[in-house]
Amino acid sequence: MPNTREVVLSGTHGSAVESTTGEGAVPVEAGQPVIEIDHVTKRFDDYLAVADADFSIASGEFFSMLGPSGCGKTTTLRMIAGFETPTEGAIRLEGVDVSSVSPHKRNVNTVFQHYALFPHMTVWDNVAYGPRSKKIDKTLGKGEVKRRVDELLEIVRLTDFAKRKPAQLSGGQQQRVALARALVNYPSALLLDEPLGALDLKLRHAMQFELKRIQREVGITFVYVTHDQEEALTMSDRIAVMNAGNVEQIGSPTEIYDRPATVFVASFIGQANLWPGKQIRMDGDLAELSVLGTTLRARPGDTAIEAGGHATLMVRPERVRVSVDPPEGDVATVAATVTDLTFQGPVVRLSMDAPDGSPIVAHVGTEQNLPLLRPGDRVHVAWAPDASLVLPAADIPTTEDLEEMFDAPPEP
Ligand code: ATP
Repeated sequence: MPNTREVVLSGTHGSAVESTTGEGAVPVEAGQPVIEIDHVTKRFDDYLAVADADFSIASGEFFSMLGPSGCGKTTTLRMIAGFETPTEGAIRLEGVDVSSVSPHKRNVNTVFQHYALFPHMTVWDNVAYGPRSKKIDKTLGKGEVKRRVDELLEIVRLTDFAKRKPAQLSGGQQQRVALARALVNYPSALLLDEPLGALDLKLRHAMQFELKRIQREVGITFVYVTHDQEEALTMSDRIAVMNAGNVEQIGSPTEIYDRPATVFVASFIGQANLWPGKQIRMDGDLAELSVLGTTLRARPGDTAIEAGGHATLMVRPERVRVSVDPPEGDVATVAATVTDLTFQGPVVRLSMDAPDGSPIVAHVGTEQNLPLLRPGDRVHVAWAPDASLVLPAADIPTTEDLEEMFDAPPEP
């Protein structure tokens, strides 16, 4: 069976991929599941940290687990790595059940936020440490260590820094050495636990693009844990959004942003107007909702809601159009009163109240040609029914809830 890493990484090291995931493990083709989380539950005494997680991660995928502090993402990652054992369910790597296999016998590698490079060794020797310990020059032929280290240093763009010691590198460069070191044994998957958390904001942004480029270049599956939605949206092929031990939704960044499955996902990813309402009926492809003190048509979500059932209407602020005159055309519209305006560079954030007192937020760009508005001004807001989404009823997070949700986890 062809191996993605052979295709992406240069050289002829097909046999170099050790099947340490257990008897009979074989490298999988791109797109096939490399990690299977099979109905996994993890309890710490009575505390349910992960509840029946059930999903697969494909070979070559950049997969992120995203959620607020304490949602169970690190515990899930640690179970894949072998540092924790599932209370129920199984974890399979390349088709083999590894639930009771120790971490160092699993063909995965982990990069932590606080990685430790060997300070007395050069960059080159730091990267060479793993393959030298595994004596791959003996098993795979002389020169294999050098070939791999040179190749990985090139991929992380540190060839010219090979002779330096870690203390002579910037934070971002040190992080790239840690990555090269974790990749040099060609793991089936690289597990990354908030690896950019210790870097400052600018460097973090630069490293997001670097990480994605490196992952594409090596073609190895990356499983990335973060509480930072921007990080997950920028880099991932797919994201699992977790909340209180549950996987709420798995999808591509676009799917999760455009079609969140729940109120939690809608409010955790990007900004969202969320209003409680009641479904009246289906009208062709659209649902009719009693919401904001009026009746509006909206795009139905994945959960069917019966007539008379409680629901939540979601509209992203950038989809809300604001006008002084009543809008024309096939739109959902309500009257509103301006309460606040904030200039945010590319957009003006406009806060308004609907006649029933519900808050409405619009991000208005220059293309809307809006006249200068002041608090107290009466306007009309509108959106295409297709730009809205009907979600199952749930408590709508308050500003305080959101602040708590986005609070960075305490530094260890
Ligand atoms: P963070 O971003 O803060 O690391 P997380 O989503 O990664 O959050 P986990 O570390 O997976 O969260 O923890 C999930 C829950 O399980 C938390 O409430 C945590 O306190 C608890 N937990 C984790 N490890 C243990 C342990 N060894 N013993 C008891 N409880 C634990």
